Amino acid sequence: MARAVLALNAGSSSIKFALFRLVPPAAPALACQGEVDGIGTAPRFRARDPAGLVLAEQSWPAGAGRTHEQLLGGLLDFAEHHLGTDKLAGIGHRIVHGGQDFFRPVRLTPAVLAALETLVPLAPLHQPHNLAPVRVLAASHPDLPQVACFDTGFHHTMAPLATRFALPRALHDQGVRRYGFHGLSYEFIAGALRARLPALAAGRVVAAHLGNGASLCAMADGRSVDTTMGFTALEGLMMGTRCGAIDPGVLLYLQQQRGMTVQAVEDLLYHRSGLLGVSGLSNDMRTLLASDDPHAAEAVALFAYRIARETAALAGTLGGLDGFVFTAGIGAHAPPVRAAVCARLGWLGVELDPAANARGAGRISTAASRVAVHVIPTDEEAMIARHTEATLDG
Ligand code: ADP
Repeated sequence: MARAVLALNAGSSSIKFALFRLVPPAAPALACQGEVDGIGTAPRFRARDPAGLVLAEQSWPAGAGRTHEQLLGGLLDFAEHHLGTDKLAGIGHRIVHGGQDFFRPVRLTPAVLAALETLVPLAPLHQPHNLAPVRVLAASHPDLPQVACFDTGFHHTMAPLATRFALPRALHDQGVRRYGFHGLSYEFIAGALRARLPALAAGRVVAAHLGNGASLCAMADGRSVDTTMGFTALEGLMMGTRCGAIDPGVLLYLQQQRGMTVQAVEDLLYHRSGLLGVSGLSNDMRTLLASDDPHAAEAVALFAYRIARETAALAGTLGGLDGFVFTAGIGAHAPPVRAAVCARLGWLGVELDPAANARGAGRISTAASRVAVHVIPTDEEAMIARHTEATLDG
């Protein structure tokens, strides 16, 4: 009988999951993965095998009133049924914010959960949704260990200067500082580099997680020294619907002169800006790349421009650049975006190999390129599973 862990990544209306069998000393082996989405409206459950074949699918009409509890219960029943005689040994959660105190993965006790609840104001759009399933499962399956894995954790090694805003010291001491996010993704990339390209991993690398949320991480010898997201997941790059770095004076102007409420500004910054706001068309990169609307082209151009601009800043922090890694939905699947970014990084020593970029796997820079550019698909759920195994057995 093998043991297994379930990795959960819960958002406001969806829960992504991946079930892994533990096969030590090897890394956990994916058994199946999928999601429950449409939570709160018309929920749908889907599970796929590692090759992408649909194993199970179920949907409920709007108004059927499936609660979070029922949907999570159904997911656990599916996982246990799928495992047969193998046993679910624990559940790992992606928790967006660990604050100043939590960076290593940790068992979710009532005291830890209470401490993580106090961080909700720092990530109001993510943290409550990450923690909700923990509470539900603690009540329904009190004997099943749960582990928190923090998206801020990997950035714990950031240089102290990189964590500071130029604000009065007292605010920094009260937690108003830069934390960074997408840490599980960057930790996976750092591990993949160490395993496949150890010389590069030991050098100065910028990794670009370009999904709906987007950020860059500057890594020296596989550790985060700075990143583009800060106090919240709003800072830094332009994203699907988020604006990224913006003159804070704009926010004052919108509220003081244009009479926008705080809620309206929040909605603008998180949901109506970025690729969607600039294109006026979509937050989906596929739609923008397929469009002949000049506003779509401008949104894509600005996305690449901002990545190149922030990369230059991080290269300055690193004192040079040996490698650049593209990952997540856009990074792994959008050759035109990679080409636009690399074209702007030529002065840093980036030389793209167009044929390799079109293939989109492994090294995509020429052999002569001073900076080695790679495409490496990320796997945050695998990272959660590894941490959960280590924490359960630690
Ligand atoms: P999330 O941050 O929600 O996990 P993903 O990492 O899945 O997001 O990335 C979503 C983004 O990736 C979307 O903008 C989507 O359009 C883009 N994307 C996915 N596949 C492709 C593709 N083949 N070509 C271009 N963009 C793609």
